[in-house]
Amino acid sequence: MLGMRAHARSRAVSVLAAVLVAFAVAGPTSAAAPDTLLPRARAIVREHPGMWAQAVVARGEHTVVVGRSARQAAEIAAVADRAGHTVAKVWGPVDAVVLVPATEAQAAELAAPAHVEGFAAFAGVGRVIVDPSGFGRLSRTGRQVVLTHELTHVATGAVLTGDMPAWLVEGFADYVGYLDAGLPVRAVAAELAEEVRAGTPPRELPGRAEFQSGSVRLAQAYEEAWLVCRYIAERFGEPKLVGLYRAALRSGVTAALRDTLGMTLPGLTEAWRDYVVRQLGPVAAS
Ligand SMILES: [Zn+2]
Repeated sequence: MLGMRAHARSRAVSVLAAVLVAFAVAGPTSAAAPDTLLPRARAIVREHPGMWAQAVVARGEHTVVVGRSARQAAEIAAVADRAGHTVAKVWGPVDAVVLVPATEAQAAELAAPAHVEGFAAFAGVGRVIVDPSGFGRLSRTGRQVVLTHELTHVATGAVLTGDMPAWLVEGFADYVGYLDAGLPVRAVAAELAEEVRAGTPPRELPGRAEFQSGSVRLAQAYEEAWLVCRYIAERFGEPKLVGLYRAALRSGVTAALRDTLGMTLPGLTEAWRDYVVRQLGPVAAS
């Protein structure tokens, strides 16, 4: 582990700028550590060979980015490296292949059967798929948040654990995603803040359907989920939030809440409602 970390630190983002032909035939690299990412990237690329005819590859510390231009791939590898550091700090090391196809339609094809309309990026098993148009419209901070969010999903194996509650999966990914963003709560949760100020704070934690593409309260669902995880981390400490997630993976969320936080789901929901109003409600006059 120590060796891996030292290796990672010394390794700057390097653009191989290889055309895919070279990429596909290249043998194992001469790097000190055995490289499992390049073979994984090759295998993923082979799933859609026609899509990657003009692709270039950039190598980050713990990512391989397959993209359309050397500059784009290198930029995304740098963002992914920072994202990977944040994920490692909270959860543990993560590595991934980041796929950046040319068009939104290709991103949808790569993510299928999942529906990803309106999402800037999507996590799969060991990989992140970036929608070039959605991602391109994001601010620098937004890109950082999105890739950190998706790498959190990769690290936790989110796509493999479909029975986890969506509020915990998405809230935890946003908790890690926004951790180093330095954004005020009311800015991150702007849509939810508007509802709270209008006197209609949320009643129940968001369910899976509310996170689907096209959901009318999609933004609010993410904000609600983010705030429940932020609440847990603030009240019990970040290690307890991580412990809750790991326990929920093992034994389900009800037992995990009881064993990790000594809470029930209704109790957590009530505490979260109060927290949301405290964080987003009108600022009390003094
Ligand atoms: Zn997510």
